[in-house]
Amino acid sequence: MSDETNNEGLNEAPWRATILTLYPDMFPGPLGTSLAGRALENGLWSLDILHIRDFAEGKHRNVDDTPAGGGAGMVLRPDVVGRAIDAATGEGDMRPRILLSPRGKSLTQEKVRSLKEAGGAILLCGRFEGVDQRVIDGRNLEEISIGDYILSGGELGAMVLMDAVVRLLPGVMGKVASGEDESFESGLLEYPHYTRPTIWEGHEIPEILASGHHGKIAQWRHEQAVALTKERRPDLYEAWEAEE
Ligand code: SAH
Repeated sequence: MSDETNNEGLNEAPWRATILTLYPDMFPGPLGTSLAGRALENGLWSLDILHIRDFAEGKHRNVDDTPAGGGAGMVLRPDVVGRAIDAATGEGDMRPRILLSPRGKSLTQEKVRSLKEAGGAILLCGRFEGVDQRVIDGRNLEEISIGDYILSGGELGAMVLMDAVVRLLPGVMGKVASGEDESFESGLLEYPHYTRPTIWEGHEIPEILASGHHGKIAQWRHEQAVALTKERRPDLYEAWEAEE
């Protein structure tokens, strides 16, 4: 147990992330500031970083090699990545093992909530052309994408995923309710917001919002959310309407 002393405090955090990366210096990066940073300091979540290169062998510590069958770029080796994943996975560790990947299912708010419930995640950040398929299959990695575009590495994807989860953890957001009527939570995009000054560049805040009539305000916001979703995201609108 002695070499695990460093992890002991971290392992008690309610939500535990372990990152496997070739660029450990990128972390915590933006997650070290603001809401997520404060929550990290307060032990509401933990962040362990493993450097994939530490699991490479030989003089050159190669982590990648040329693609079998030819073609451009390099591929992360399954032996090196496999050892890194095994090192990240503690005994009885049931956290999902995720590979950030443009081929994965798109990250959604629903998925974010389920990852929050899972108590943490092991996140493998790909680089180069990607990761040898045998380690994806052999270690049961779930591929998750953050959108239909190609990043140069999985690190920013891992940060996006963690940021979305961490803000949902109890005690992270000021007001518990503020997570609940946001875009996607109800299947709709959110209604528009307004604040002071009451007149800005000749534009007033919609009258209803000053009425003090909570029922009517809620109704108006709902109508706005429906209209906005219908206009901008017909895909979400149709799914929402089918549910109604
Ligand atoms: N050759 C791959 C792209 C590799 S990009 C392909 O065409 O599918 C290098 C790494 O960046 C990937 O292994 C992955 O970890 C990460 N990455 C790139 N785009 C991503 C996205 N949209 N979502 C999540 N991770 C992504």
